[in-house]
Amino acid sequence: MVRIDEEKCIGCGICVESCPFGALKAEHGTVLVMDTCQNCGVCADVCPEAAILKEEKEVDKEDIDRYKDVYIAAELEPVTGRLRKVTLELLAEGRRIADELGEKLRLLLLCGSIPEGLPEQAGACGCDEVIVVKDEILREYNTDIYADLIQKICQKRCPSVLFMPATETGRDLAPRVSAKLKTGLTADCTGFDVDKDRNLVQIRPTYGGNIMASIITPGCRPQMASVRPNVFTVRECSAGKRAQITEMDFDLDVNSKRTRRTYLGENPNSYKNVAESDVVIVAGYGVGSEENFKKIERLAVKMGAALGATRKVVDEGWAPFDIQVGQTGKTIAPDLYISFGVSGALQHTIGIRNAGHVIAVNNDPAAPIFSMCDEAILGECVEIAEQMGRMLDSQEGR
Ligand SMILES: Cc1cc2nc3c(=O)[nH]c(=O)nc-3n(C[C@H](O)[C@H](O)[C@H](O)COP(=O)(O)OP(=O)(O)OC[C@H]3O[C@@H](n4cnc5c(N)ncnc54)[C@H](O)[C@@H]3O)c2cc1C
Repeated sequence: MVRIDEEKCIGCGICVESCPFGALKAEHGTVLVMDTCQNCGVCADVCPEAAILKEEKEVDKEDIDRYKDVYIAAELEPVTGRLRKVTLELLAEGRRIADELGEKLRLLLLCGSIPEGLPEQAGACGCDEVIVVKDEILREYNTDIYADLIQKICQKRCPSVLFMPATETGRDLAPRVSAKLKTGLTADCTGFDVDKDRNLVQIRPTYGGNIMASIITPGCRPQMASVRPNVFTVRECSAGKRAQITEMDFDLDVNSKRTRRTYLGENPNSYKNVAESDVVIVAGYGVGSEENFKKIERLAVKMGAALGATRKVVDEGWAPFDIQVGQTGKTIAPDLYISFGVSGALQHTIGIRNAGHVIAVNNDPAAPIFSMCDEAILGECVEIAEQMGRMLDSQEGR
């Protein structure tokens, strides 16, 4: 909380106007600080009398130094029970950061049974140790039990960095773990670095994707960040290496479980998973109508590609949110991406940075997507899609 020096305060109210949290109130010629103050310091910066003092938290260097090593919270494929690709992507980036810090890379795995070939698979991705908690209860994800266990492991092992996947499960789990550990969490990071004080620099888009923020957590440990699938690339950097497996035992507090799954349904959409396909066709608002959107969908089916959409298309109700690509949708990394009537706004293209070959169809030669694609096709997008469909039909007929 900020503190007001009443001797200096002239009650001008400039700080009241500046507070982004509405936490200051002008009263009796001075200013009252309310509980909603986040100690952000904006008011201190604007005060013409330097009458506002921001509370600086003393960083206990010795305490911070107790925390070591980069940890990744693993996620398993529900069907195969193997490590999910996003976990391998995080191991690749985790290895890079661990090397910069000169520290170890460790994987945290909560599971019903240990996946076959785990030491080899994790080891090949540069992991030094896999910490496993194994129990039949853990076969199915539960928020309370998982958050509780990760908190306990962190309290025992004191990680300096903890990466979590920003999947449906990770999005549920990560904020709870960070709240339990009383540390920060930077969600949906797109890059990392290490600063001169060995802090993890957590890079993510902010203000609608218009700027990239570099965030550090100098006073708390672990430094927690979440990363979406397809942001980093899987890298097998240590062929032949086996990660050490350490099983840890905890009394699982089944009573802490406040939720239970009552029903597991099929996704009513028959769309292929846009985040996991090698070929993705994206329809933008330029297709013009829901009827035309269906034409692009037919081409995607014909090509065996997954269909994606821009946010504008989703907002129109032509496509479900599941297939939105971009900052607030999915991040994708197909070998081939073809867009029809997509302008190439930053909030969309941020989701295709790791796509291989990019082809864009647009009728505006100045469309921003043309400046970042490998092949630009200038023309009417629906006509071109139909033409491509006919070419595929005639090839099949041959
Ligand atoms: C916080 C925030 C988050 C966002 N998150 C996302 C996100 O996750 N994903 C996302 O996609 N967007 C997102 N957006 C929205 C984004 O800023 C754009 O508005 C959106 O991507 C534009 O969609 P579009 O390219 O389909 O439509 P438009 O910008 O309207 O572009 C349509 C394009 O089609 C072309 N065109 C028109 N007619 C034809 C034709 N007949 N033939 C060929 N080309 C034609 C036009 O030249 C134009 O380039 C976000 C915005 C904000 C503020």
